[in-house]
Amino acid sequence: MNDLLMQRNILLNPGPACVSNRVKKAQIIPDICPREKEFGDMMERVSKGLLRFVKNTKSASCVLFGGSGTLAVEAALSSLISSKHKLVIINNGAYGERMCEIARLHQLDFKEFKSNLLEPIDYRELEIFLQKQRPDFLALVHSETTSGLINDLKAISKLAKLLNIKIIADCMSSYACYELDLNEADVIIASSNKNIQGIAGISFVIANDEILESAKYAKSLYLDLASQYKFFKQNHQMRFTPPVQTIYALHEAIIELEEEGLENRYKRYEKSNQILREGLLSLGFDVYPKSGAGIIISAVMLKDGMDFEALHHYCRHRGFTIYPGKIAGLNMFRIANIGAIDSLDIKLFLEVLREFEYQLKAEK
Ligand SMILES: *Cc1c(COP(=O)(O)O)cnc(C)c1O
Repeated sequence: MNDLLMQRNILLNPGPACVSNRVKKAQIIPDICPREKEFGDMMERVSKGLLRFVKNTKSASCVLFGGSGTLAVEAALSSLISSKHKLVIINNGAYGERMCEIARLHQLDFKEFKSNLLEPIDYRELEIFLQKQRPDFLALVHSETTSGLINDLKAISKLAKLLNIKIIADCMSSYACYELDLNEADVIIASSNKNIQGIAGISFVIANDEILESAKYAKSLYLDLASQYKFFKQNHQMRFTPPVQTIYALHEAIIELEEEGLENRYKRYEKSNQILREGLLSLGFDVYPKSGAGIIISAVMLKDGMDFEALHHYCRHRGFTIYPGKIAGLNMFRIANIGAIDSLDIKLFLEVLREFEYQLKAEK
């Protein structure tokens, strides 16, 4: 095992992110039945711990599901929105599109607010759209992992509050780095394997208890938010088998984030992102989004004659995993600077990129 822990792969894909050896090791525990009180106490600590990275959670709970992030998004949308509710979904990337797909499959009454994938939303246009539609709920992705674009929760929540619209925010790639606030989003959804730097397999919904109690419209046994909430409240358990070891890893990841501090994690990611962007630009790459970008993901245009597969293979062989990402038909790839890595890893990656280009030129 120690040999495996020695090998350091640098994941630059937008999650699952690199985790520390400490988090990896936390998964190795004596066998335990998840219906034991000892495990329930662990779940309770994790649930409470996840709340601490969000502001204004005094009357809130964090409901855990076994499953990837999409599961919690589907559970929240399908449980909160009844056949009498109206929903607007902001769609400016693959994850906004996924919410639309969920709404379609669950036959929710929804309208799409479409916006450019590489440019910030026109908030005035959104305001007009919301005034016209008057939905009960507005669903959106806070940090659109497709492009790295940030949809400004502060600005959007101001519009929504005036019109008495509840916000359901997919915060998968902003949670545990950006400071989130239940005053700016009524429902916050995230997962265990991105900025929180835990192992994949858990997703969760954070909202005030009143909202969680009202989430009773699910037409699926498993994706029932209110039932999962009530069961957890009573028993400190998930209704169905939890990913036991993943819970222990997430517990360790929470302690790590508390030790580092949310603000410092933001600063670490911000520094990596800055060095990455500057490095890419100085190597002559075009980096998107040009405005409205967060500090999590960068979309990079492949240069003419540069093949993604070849680049991916070259980087992977040297310990760096990059991620494909055609956006609006453009030939791009994506770099996420999240996880248990820092700006030194980014500098090494930029060196690899430089070498790759050098070799490419030498071959020609
Ligand atoms: C990662 C991610 C998800 C969830 O994807 P899964 O593959 O189900 O974990 C949802 N929304 C956004 C914005 C994401 O970045």
